[in-house]
This record gives sequence, C-alpha cells and structure tokens, in this order.
Amino acid sequence: MSGFNTLAVHAGQHKDPATGAVIPPIYQTSTFIQDGINVLRAGHEYSRGSNPTRNGFEEQLNALERGAAGFAFASGIAAEDALLRAVLAPGDHIILGSDGYGGTHRLVNNLHRKWGISASTVELTDLTAAAAALRPDTALIWVETPSNPLLKIADLSALASLAREHGALLVVDNTFATPYLQRPLDFGAHAVIHSTTKYIGGHSDVLGGAVIVADYLHRGQSLAEAVGYQQFAGGAVAGPQDCYLAARGLKTLGLRMERHCATALELAHWLQARPEVSRVYYPGLGSHRGHRLAATQQSGFGGIISLQLAGGEHAARTLAQSMEYFQLSVSLGGVESLVCYPREMTHASTIGTAQQIPADLVRLSVGIEEPADLIADLTAGLAAAGCATSSTTSSATGNLPRSAMASA
Ligand SMILES: *Cc1c(COP(=O)(O)O)cnc(C)c1O
Repeated sequence: MSGFNTLAVHAGQHKDPATGAVIPPIYQTSTFIQDGINVLRAGHEYSRGSNPTRNGFEEQLNALERGAAGFAFASGIAAEDALLRAVLAPGDHIILGSDGYGGTHRLVNNLHRKWGISASTVELTDLTAAAAALRPDTALIWVETPSNPLLKIADLSALASLAREHGALLVVDNTFATPYLQRPLDFGAHAVIHSTTKYIGGHSDVLGGAVIVADYLHRGQSLAEAVGYQQFAGGAVAGPQDCYLAARGLKTLGLRMERHCATALELAHWLQARPEVSRVYYPGLGSHRGHRLAATQQSGFGGIISLQLAGGEHAARTLAQSMEYFQLSVSLGGVESLVCYPREMTHASTIGTAQQIPADLVRLSVGIEEPADLIADLTAGLAAAGCATSSTTSSATGNLPRSAMASA
C-alpha cells in the first residue's frame, strides 16, 4: 500500500475524465439527473445521501486512518453527535475522559441525557479508574489523546482491550494527533472522530468533522452501515465547498505536521528554561508524564503546548493578550499560531467543576511560521507578563467573553 503522503495527495481524488482537470471539480449540486426512474448514473441521487466531492474527501481521510469507511459532517460536534446517535440506545451509559473537549461533555450531558444516555467522567490515563468505571450498561468509552488542554496521554491498546472485553466500543477523538501522528484503529479502537476544522483543514477557513469506523459488527449492524444511515437520515452533512477545502488541506497534512512538531518541540524546550514559566505541558518533553507512552503510539508529539506562568493568573492573562503572531483565539491546528486562555474560553463550562482549568494556564497552537519569530513573540509576551504584578486584580484584563457557548 502507498505511503501516507502519497495517499494524502491521491486517495479519493479522481481526475475529471471529461476535461482532464487534475483537480476534481467541486460538485456544487443538490441533485443528480436520473436516466430513468431510480436509474442513477453514477450512484448519486441527492447530495444529502452522497456527493462526489464529499465522497472523495471521505475516501481520502479513510485511507489515511486505515478505516472501513469515512463520513464527513458539517462540524466536529455534528460528527460526534451522529456517531453517538448511530451506536447508542436509550439506557446506555458512556465513559468520557476527564480532560477533553468541553463541547463533547456539553453534547452528552445537555443534549443526549434527555434521550436516556448517562455519562461518567473518568481519568482515563488511570487504567484502574477506567476499569472501575465500567458498568453493565456501559456501551462506549470516549477518549482524547493527547487531551485538551493538558496534553495527557491515554493508553490506546489498553483501553481498546478494556472496551472489547466489556463488549463496549472505544471511540478516539484524534483531532490533536491527526492520522499522520497516530492511527487509533491500528490499536483496536472501533471509531475515530475528527474536528477537521483543526489540522486536517489546517488553514482556519472551514468548519468540518468526520467519523472513520473500523470493520466491526455492533448490535447486529456494521458500524459503517449505522453511521452511513445516520448521516443520510440525520442530515448533518458537510457541503461540497467545505469538503473541497478540507480535502485540499489534508493533502499537505504530513508536511504541516512535521513543521508543527519540530517548532513546538523547540518552543517547549525554550519555554521550559524560562524563569517566567513554572510548568510546560508537551508530550515531547522527557519530563512529561506521558512521554514514553506517547512515543509508543504516536510518531510525533504534535503542535499544541500548554504552560503555566510563575506570575499566576494575571501573568497568564497578560501573555495571552500581548503577542503579535500568537493571536488570542479559540481553535487550533492552522498554519498561523494562536493562543488561548482555556479556563474562560474553550473550557468556560467547566468552571466550578473538578475539571476546571488552572487560572495560570495558557494554551499555544504553534503554527508554521519561522521559529525565531515565534520565540521573539513569546519573549516579548513573557516580558509583558513578567512585568505584570500578581497583586493587580484580573479585572484590568478581565473583559474576555465568558460565553458558555465558547468552543474549539
Ligand atoms: C474543536 C474540537 C472539537 C469540535 O469540533 P468543531 O469542528 O468545533 O465542531 C472536538 N474535539 C476536539 C479535540 C476539538 O479540538
């Protein structure tokens, strides 16, 4: 089978036979002419069911994750919602990792709970805790590794075995690692989900999500059939323009991830040596708790770094708002660097819970700019943060939106 970058460029990208166009056209159409009643010309009837541009992207991503089938959705959350609806039934219990995307917890606890789904939040880096949380009605374990924003590493093979012995599914949110660095299905996971908004799109210009499933029979139906039917009947599909952008981004995923990883490692080492920084979270550092495990299941350590500031909350807020290239924003995984204050931005919904994020923590999404320019930007930001006295109240810079709807 061809290698990663070859598949990324070619899988699902069928040249146009009519014109010879190297890039397949964007099939911006809702419906397809039939040659007779229900005689479909190329298997396409209506774009909610199938669309060549979407199918091309699905095939491309599925090839990279080595799955049985891939499905593209309008957002990462739409993909999560579709997968859960496809495989769960009222009365099911699921286990969610404790450090994870806030929107997943919101989806399950605020929307799916009404339909009879219950959830426990468990520290999934602790296998004893994971095993102890299994109940007779547990149907699914949902894990993010590396996790957001603390970059914790969970053992994919061990969790897959645990799930399989229990007759439950293991779902992995692979948004942070991407298939270039980690392929969860190879470790026994049943399904992978992505926010393709992040590294797969890679240019912060499109929202999208995807589900990739293993060849597996669940409650008498293949996962591919179950998710495919949910996509068609539920209708949260990605449109052709969005699929085109995501597919174009995916072609260069390998190149971008190499650069994200190299620069992030350099910045993590640099940050670790700075007196203004009390702690750096990056799985590529030997000091990271999950470093050795990450090295066994990932081929690189990714582009996200979190850090805690010696100057406390005020220093963290100041750093987040004082850089030129690291712009203050939710989301991640684009070619441009971004900085986020997770406690009140992406993870605002966890304030007051056991999962709340430390007030002195800042998350960096390291872009593909020149490392020297990013270091200069961080130097200036840390100088500003270092001058900030922790006795000043946070109200001076405390006018960030505290929207519980904040995402990414
Ligand atoms: C952003 C994100 C999501 C949600 O995806 P959307 O495209 O914003 O709906 C899910 N999981 C992770 C890890 C994310 O970063």
